[in-house]
Amino acid sequence: MSHCIKCGTVLPEGSAFCPSCGSPVGQMSQNQAHGLADSKEKITLAAFAISLAVFMPPVGIILAIIGTLKYMNPAYKKICQIALPTSVVCLFLLPILCFCTIFYSLGFR
Ligand SMILES: [Zn+2]
Repeated sequence: MSHCIKCGTVLPEGSAFCPSCGSPVGQMSQNQAHGLADSKEKITLAAFAISLAVFMPPVGIILAIIGTLKYMNPAYKKICQIALPTSVVCLFLLPILCFCTIFYSLGFR
């Protein structure tokens, strides 16, 4: 399935022009549309992985391990490999931070 370069409309097989905006369909259209969607997905996934790693380290670790094993795409694998150590670091930092906050609020300085 190919997409219009300009508007992203799904193009019928073998069409020379986009039915939505009328721009000519080039050989590159499919790759460009695919690359665009792909990079957007990667950014979303990376943001999700990092925020998960920071706020929910145990869940982040599990998902990062699953992702590392499951994803064949090297870019996705890399995201998981970044998220994994981030989760581990946050897993140790979060309790320490909590304890520090509790101690400070109780007045043990
Ligand atoms: Zn179009």
